[in-house]
Amino acid sequence: PLDPDAMFKQGFLAEVYKERPTKDVLTRFPPEPNGYLHLGHAKAIAVNFGFARFHGGKTILRFDDTNPDKEKEEFFVAIEEAVQWLGFTPHKITYASDNFQKLYDLAERLIQLDRAYVCHCVEADIKLQRGGKDGKEGPRYRCEHANQDIESNLRKFRDMRDGKYEPQTAFLRMKQDIENPNPQMWDLAAYRIPKDQTHHVRTGDKWKIYPVYGFAHCLCDSSEGITHSLCTGEFLTARESYEWLNKSLGVYEPMQREYGRLNISGTVLSKRSLEKLVNLGIVKGWDDPRLFTLSALRRRGVPPSAILSFINELGVTTAVTSIPIARFEQSVRRSLETSVPRLMLVLDPVRVIIEDMGDMHGQEIDFPFSPKDPNLGSHKLKLTQTVFIDRSDFREIDSPDYFRLAPGKIVGLLRFPHPIKATSFSKDTDGKVVEIRAVLDKDSKKPKAFIHWVPEGSQPVEVRVYGSLFKSDDPSSVDGGFLSDINHDSQSIHQNALVDSGFAEVARTAPWPKSNLESSKLLPENVRFQGIRVAYFVVDRDSTDEKIVLNRIVSLKEDARK
Ligand code: ATP
Ligand code: MG
Ligand code: MG
Repeated sequence: PLDPDAMFKQGFLAEVYKERPTKDVLTRFPPEPNGYLHLGHAKAIAVNFGFARFHGGKTILRFDDTNPDKEKEEFFVAIEEAVQWLGFTPHKITYASDNFQKLYDLAERLIQLDRAYVCHCVEADIKLQRGGKDGKEGPRYRCEHANQDIESNLRKFRDMRDGKYEPQTAFLRMKQDIENPNPQMWDLAAYRIPKDQTHHVRTGDKWKIYPVYGFAHCLCDSSEGITHSLCTGEFLTARESYEWLNKSLGVYEPMQREYGRLNISGTVLSKRSLEKLVNLGIVKGWDDPRLFTLSALRRRGVPPSAILSFINELGVTTAVTSIPIARFEQSVRRSLETSVPRLMLVLDPVRVIIEDMGDMHGQEIDFPFSPKDPNLGSHKLKLTQTVFIDRSDFREIDSPDYFRLAPGKIVGLLRFPHPIKATSFSKDTDGKVVEIRAVLDKDSKKPKAFIHWVPEGSQPVEVRVYGSLFKSDDPSSVDGGFLSDINHDSQSIHQNALVDSGFAEVARTAPWPKSNLESSKLLPENVRFQGIRVAYFVVDRDSTDEKIVLNRIVSLKEDARK
C-alpha cells in the first residue's frame, strides 16, 4: 500500500513547501457556504489540512461568505460536518464576514493610495474597455472614472457603503495595470452593490456593499497570516492580482500556489448543478446516495479513509484530473475488501425446503467473518430445514454450462455440512418460483459451485441499490445539459431481502472498517459489511427499530455497476 503521506513527500506539494519552508505552516480551506461539499472538495481538504498536518502546522476553516443571496445556515453546518467526517479538525473557524470592517478600511486605504476608484460603467462598457471578447477586438483603455481624484473616490465609496447608490450602479475597482498581458490585472472589481439586498446569515442588513472574491480572499489570507494559500488551477492567472493587492497595501504576503482540480466523469459536482438536482426533486436531497457530495458518500457507506487514499493515490500535480466513477469505486472496493466483515445476504429470497435435514435441523455452525483473517472472529449460524437462496441462483431448466441450483442439480451452500440437490419446485399463479424442495447430498465429492443462503428466522432488511444518476459519461456536455441526461432507472429497492443473524454482532461491534475516530462509532453509516457474492452494504439512517434499511455501497466487481 502507498504511504498515506506520499502526496506531501514528493511532487508538487513537496516543491511548494521548499519554496517557503517555514515550520509554522498555516493553511486554510475556504469554501463558499452556497451548497454541500463534494468529492472535488475532498481533494482541497486533503491538500490544505494534510499539508499543514504533515508539516506540523495548522489549518483554518474559513467560510467565504461574501455572497449573501446564495448562502444558507444549512450549508455552513453541512460543510463543517463534512470536514470533520473526513477526519480533520480546524485550528479555528473563521468567516470572511468577520473581516468586513477591516476589508472596508483596507479598501479606503487602497483609494487613498490612488489604487482604486469608484466606477459607474455597465458591463458592456467594461467589456469594451477590456478590449472586447478575449481582449482581442480592440485597444484597452480606462474609463473617465479612473481619473477621479482621491477625495471623490472616497466620498463615492462611502456613499456606496451608506446605501446612496442603487444596486449595480457603482462599484469599487482596483487601479491595476491595463498594459499587463494578464487579464486578471485589468482593473478588477473590489466591491459591489448586490442586485438583491439579501439578509446576510451573519451580518444581517449591516452591509449594502460586499467585497468580491479576489479582494476578500487575498486580504483574509493575509490578515490571518496564511503561509501557503493552496487553491485550484483556475486561480493561476489571479495570482498576479493577489500579489499586487497585498504589495500595494503593504500587508503580509501569503504565497499562493495552484494544484489541479479533481473532476469525476459520469456525474456533476458543482454546487450550482447539485442545487438544481435537489430543488427539482430529481434526487432526495443533498445527501442522496447517487450524488458525489461528501454527505451522500457518507450515507452511501464510503469510508472517509477510502476517499483520502483515493486522493493520495491520484497524487497532486498542477493538471486537472478527470476520473471515471468506476475508478473511484474500485478504490472504495479495495479499501473495504479486507477491512469489513462478511455476512450472507439474500436480495431476492426463494424458500428451499431440505426434506431430509432430520437431526441436523437446529444445529449451529461457526461462520467466520473473514475467510482469511481470523482476527475478525466468527459468528454462529443455525442450520434449518428451510433456508433461503437468491432467485438468481436457481434455474427451472438446467444446462451443462450452469453450476448453481436446478432440478436434479447439486450445489454447495456456503459452509453447510453437505451440498443439496433440488428435487422439485412450485410456482405461484404468476409463474414465479415460490418454493424449491431439495435433499442433502451426502456422498458426492466437492460440488462445482457454492452459493450463499440464509437460515429461516434471518433478519428482514430493505436494500437500496444505486446505479448511475446519468446516462452518459459527460452529462454536462449533453444537448440540453445534464438535466437531459438523467437515468430514470438509477435506484432499485429490494423490500424482502434477508441478512444472516451475524448482522447483529456486526452492528454492535462497528465501526467497520475499524477507525480511530471514536466519536463516529455509533452512527449507522459505520455499520458496513460484505454480503458474500453480492456487494458491500451499509446501514442507512432511514432504519428504525422495526425496519432495517441498507444501502449498497459498491458491487463486488466493476461491471455490475449499472
Ligand atoms: P463548486 O463550483 O463545485 O461549487 P467552488 O470552487 O465554487 O466549487 P468553493 O466553495 O469556492 O467551491 O471551494 C472551496 C475550495 O475548494 C477552493 O479552494 C476550491 O479551489 C476547492 N475546490 C473546489 N472544487 C474543487 C475540485 N473539484 N477539486 C479540487 N479542489 C476544489
Ligand atoms: Mg466558489
Ligand atoms: Mg462554484
